[in-house]
Amino acid sequence: MSEKALKILYLAAEVVPFAKTGGLADVAGSLPKALRALGHDVRVAMPRYGRISIEKFGLKLALDKVPVPMNKETESARIYQSTLGKDVPIYFIDNAKYYDREGIYMYPDDAERFIFFCRAALEMLKCLDFKPDIIHCNDWHTAVVPNWLKTLYKDDPFFANTATVYTIHNLAYQGIFGYRVLEIAGIDEYGFIYHPEMADLNEVVDFMARGIYFADVINTVSPRYAQEILTPEYGERLDPLLRDRRDRLFGILNGIDYETFNPATDPHIAANYDINSLDKRIKNKLALQEEAKLPVDAQVPLIGMISRLTDQKGLDILVEILDHLFDNFDVQFVLLGTGEQHYHDRLSRIAQEYPKNMGLFLTFNAPLAQRIYAGSDMFLMPSKFEPCGLGQMIAMHYGSVPIVRATGGLADTVQDYDPRREVGTGFVFERYDRWALFAAIVRALEHYKNPSVWRKIQLQGMQVDFSWEASARRYEDLYYKALASKKSLRKLEEYGIGRAQKHS
Ligand code: ADP
Repeated sequence: MSEKALKILYLAAEVVPFAKTGGLADVAGSLPKALRALGHDVRVAMPRYGRISIEKFGLKLALDKVPVPMNKETESARIYQSTLGKDVPIYFIDNAKYYDREGIYMYPDDAERFIFFCRAALEMLKCLDFKPDIIHCNDWHTAVVPNWLKTLYKDDPFFANTATVYTIHNLAYQGIFGYRVLEIAGIDEYGFIYHPEMADLNEVVDFMARGIYFADVINTVSPRYAQEILTPEYGERLDPLLRDRRDRLFGILNGIDYETFNPATDPHIAANYDINSLDKRIKNKLALQEEAKLPVDAQVPLIGMISRLTDQKGLDILVEILDHLFDNFDVQFVLLGTGEQHYHDRLSRIAQEYPKNMGLFLTFNAPLAQRIYAGSDMFLMPSKFEPCGLGQMIAMHYGSVPIVRATGGLADTVQDYDPRREVGTGFVFERYDRWALFAAIVRALEHYKNPSVWRKIQLQGMQVDFSWEASARRYEDLYYKALASKKSLRKLEEYGIGRAQKHS
């Protein structure tokens, strides 16, 4: 390690293996372990949702009654503790009123639920006497923390040397609420944040914007997406604010968890294999065809897709071409996903019409996902935008060749195959357009006909290093940058410059 070991509190709304709806949970379940391996004292906190069983996960009661200021009153949190992986402490913020429910998100009081989570986490630190150098916040659910540290907790000696890092996993989900949430969070006296180019921001509480506005350092999960969000096309109307903060905005690619996603040891697949025994992989394809009730046939190309079923993931252009694909090519398609109802309906109709071509699973099923990574020949991600994307990396690691649009992390991780030089790891298209997608699939199908070329593309993908270690080192650098920024800010304040004014 280059500098001193850091104390880090990592805050996330979802963490594998305890709760997951998307890529944030994968990152939160992996990065802290990689940081621990670099020697840092990193600890994680998340809410204890009703579905996180105390018995199943062996959670231990750590603190019984942590007082939590909420809405000018004091409520109480219980803190349970367990470990993430072998040795990363993870704290669960428990309060039946907020979290004892079926799901994770999409409740009318989500703002309150996550304000409570964050406030309880900060107050818990005092009870534990764990003074972090860094609080690493992720997405809008935890964006109030940088806001508090620059306002409400500004003069609190406990946090005098604590810097904040704010990671944007997906700019599209911003957590937008009314003024009332400022009262709940105890920061109403500071009012709305103001930006001359963003008039609507001055009338709502946009947690994502607040994370960007107040954090010492900001990052997103790929270098390309960090650039893209500076533009109106990808900036989700926060691009003026992001451009103001671009000197402290970085892009760090996610890794994948090689313990979970390893075809050599994966317990959920029909046959284990690695780069030296790729011939065994075919058994997974045949098993997947059987599971998806498709004709069992080693030759026919099989495209897999695992995705939230939303416009972001390119579903609108995909549903427009599937019938053309099935009418014109001998190809199979297995899709696993859940999302918007109209996509469930449309895809179900297509699957009914083409039972020999399409296997459809409208559910969330992690073991099945692993069987699709292991059994598909190609893996489709035609995203409109993609902050990083994990699917394409997992697919490459499993020897499934990605077909992706050149956006965000997809552009950073998949190299378009160049037949002249015989280099590349997948098939990439530029324009967000159904025929551009169609052409990329056709190009992949053409190359699939040549087994030696195909094998080469598979092996090139399997050889790319997507381990977390390299990314964890970049986060380490980011933490030192955040600390340096915090330090210089404090110096300026000692001289009386730039002290945050309370709004009148
Ligand atoms: P996002 O976070 O935008 O949904 P990512 O590609 O970053 O997309 O991460 C998605 C993760 O969730 C991947 O690990 C993928 O395999 C998994 N996943 C998505 N949908 C499902 C599903 N229906 N069943 C199982 N795993 C899923």
